[in-house]
Amino acid sequence: MALNLVLIGPPGSGKGTQSVRIAEKYGIPHISTGDILRAAVRDGTPLGQQVEATLASGGLVGDALMTDLVRARLSAPDLRQGFVLDGFPRTVAQAQALDTIVTPPLVVVLIDAADEEIVRRMGLRRICASCGLTQAVSADPESNGDEPHDPCPYCGGLLVRRQDDEPETVRRRLATYAQYAEPVIAYYRDRPTFGAVDGLRPASEVTALLAALIERRAPR
Ligand code: ADP
Repeated sequence: MALNLVLIGPPGSGKGTQSVRIAEKYGIPHISTGDILRAAVRDGTPLGQQVEATLASGGLVGDALMTDLVRARLSAPDLRQGFVLDGFPRTVAQAQALDTIVTPPLVVVLIDAADEEIVRRMGLRRICASCGLTQAVSADPESNGDEPHDPCPYCGGLLVRRQDDEPETVRRRLATYAQYAEPVIAYYRDRPTFGAVDGLRPASEVTALLAALIERRAPR
């Protein structure tokens, strides 16, 4: 049976990292709406030009645009075994739209994390300017995080802070999450295919918890 999986979690919860790992484990595509939008901005496409200011501000792109984007991506032929959807749905309107797009069961997992830990983690998060990979740099208590770091371990590119990981924007993104995520979680909470894991555990433990939960919710 196909594994149709949605991961929900605050920015900095490790959702992106876990999405990649789970997609690899089950051999299914990882679809990150944030990655799609950032790539569009980087490439200067019409979509990119349309969403650039919204991304930089930490606000949300409109439901209609996002739903069209996800509908188109989910109709591609590479998803017969399923998908890991990361970053969508962010609103109840998007969640309702997703129910009209995807054939059940839809497994929805919340990766939970407290705000203080998120702010600390985001201070250490960098993105490779060449390959776009997100990664963490080591914590140096003496530094404010703006010094140059080692190059990207994968392609040797320059690691930079994502524009929307600036502390001020992180706070706005957390506020946006707090405002929109609760109703989305409530929308799914009572379904037998919903589950939650603690995102504050070490990353490999979170992956194991997620896999165990997925096997229970969607036996394969
Ligand atoms: P985060 O790291 O905060 O989870 P993402 O990488 O998922 O963020 O997304 C980055 C930005 O892209 C968001 O702050 C938002 O502006 C926009 N975005 C991504 N997905 C959606 C969506 N489903 N609805 C509206 N805006 C979105």
